[in-house]
Amino acid sequence: MNTKTILVIAEYLDGKLNPITDELIACAIEITKIFDLKAKDISGVKAISEIKVIHVKGINPLESEKYKSSLVPIIREINPSFILMGHTSQGIDVASGLSVRLGCNCITGVNKIIYPEYVDVGKSEDSKSNILFSRLVFKGKCNAIVGVEKPENITLLTIQSGSFYIKDCCKEYNNIISNEEYYPSNVDDSTISLIEYGDIAYSRTTKSKLNEAKVIVAAGRGIGDKENIEYLKKMAACFTGSAVAGSRPLIDMGWLPYEQQVGITGAIVSPELYLAVGISGSSQHIAGMKDSKFIVSVNKDPNAAIFNFSDISIVEDCLSFIQAFIDNIP
Ligand SMILES: Cc1cc2nc3c(=O)[nH]c(=O)nc-3n(C[C@H](O)[C@H](O)[C@H](O)COP(=O)(O)OP(=O)(O)OC[C@H]3O[C@@H](n4cnc5c(N)ncnc54)[C@H](O)[C@@H]3O)c2cc1C
Repeated sequence: MNTKTILVIAEYLDGKLNPITDELIACAIEITKIFDLKAKDISGVKAISEIKVIHVKGINPLESEKYKSSLVPIIREINPSFILMGHTSQGIDVASGLSVRLGCNCITGVNKIIYPEYVDVGKSEDSKSNILFSRLVFKGKCNAIVGVEKPENITLLTIQSGSFYIKDCCKEYNNIISNEEYYPSNVDDSTISLIEYGDIAYSRTTKSKLNEAKVIVAAGRGIGDKENIEYLKKMAACFTGSAVAGSRPLIDMGWLPYEQQVGITGAIVSPELYLAVGISGSSQHIAGMKDSKFIVSVNKDPNAAIFNFSDISIVEDCLSFIQAFIDNIP
C-alpha cells in the first residue's frame, strides 16, 4: 500500500490564524485513523505518512485567482492524496476553481468522515470510494453521504466548521503533523483584481454584546412564538452578565436582531454558561457555541443533536422548563 500525505491549507483572517485550521487538522487525523484501520487489515504498514499544514505567504487569499495559481505548483510538488480547506468564504472561493486546475475530486461542506464498511451505502457494487463523506444538502435539512469516482486522484475537501474537534484527537498522531510556510514566486497576473472587501458577518460579530456575556440564554424554533421571547428575557434576567441569543431561523423571522444570532453566519461565543432551549443543534449553530465552558440544553426530542454537545441535556417542553426555572428562582 502506498503511503499518503494529507495537505491542510491553513486559513488566516486579517493576519490571525482562523480556528477552522485546528478543525482541518482534526479532520485529517480522522481520515488517517480510517486508513490506518484499513492498512492494519492488509499489511500493518501506516497508510498516511504525513499531515502537512501549509501557510502560503505573500499572497492575499482573498485575491482568489492569484491564490489558486500559487497553490497549484505547491500542491503538485507535495502530491497529496487529500487537500483540506475550511468551508469558509475563503475556502469556498478557492476550492472549486482549484480542483478544476488540478483535475481533482472536490467535495464541499464535509461534516463527517465515514468508513464505508460501517454504513450500508458503502457496500454497494457501484461505490469505488474507500472513504465516504457526509455533507448537508437542501439548505441543511438532510445529510447526503458521498464518495468519489476516482479515489486514485487527489480529493479536495472543504470542511464545515463545528464538525471536528482537535481536543478529541489522539496525541499519537502529533508526530506525523508538520508545518511549513511557502512563498510562491512567478504567480500569473490575474484578470481580476480585488478592490475592497468587507466581511459583514465577521465585523458585526466582533462588536456583538454576546461576546461579553458570561451567560447566554439562546432560543431556537422550538420556542414556538415571537411572544415567548419575553419569557426567554425573564429567564436571562435571573443571571448577572447575561444576554439573549437565537438560532438563525429566529433572526430570519425577525424575532431577534441579527446581532443576537449565534452560529457560523452569526456570533462565535464562548460564555461560562450557554443555555439552549428549543435548538436542534445543526452544525452551523454548534460552530458558534461549541467553545462555551458549560452547555445546558432543553429539547423535547430525546434524540436532538444538541445533546451530543451538552454537559446537561434536559428532555422537556422548553416553555414549561422556562416557567419552572423562573418560578423557582428566589
Ligand atoms: C449556509 C448556512 C448558514 C447557516 N448559519 C446558521 C447560523 O449561523 N446559526 C444558526 O443557528 N443556524 C444557521 N443555519 C441554519 C441551520 O442549518 C439550522 O437550520 C438552524 O440552526 C436550525 O435552527 P433551530 O435549531 O432553531 O430550528 P430547528 O432545526 O427547527 O429545531 C427546533 C428544535 O426545537 C425542538 N422543539 C420543538 N418544540 C419544542 C418545545 N416545545 N420544547 C422543546 N423543544 C422543542 C425540536 O425538537 C427541534 O430540535 C445556517 C444554514 C445554512 C445553510
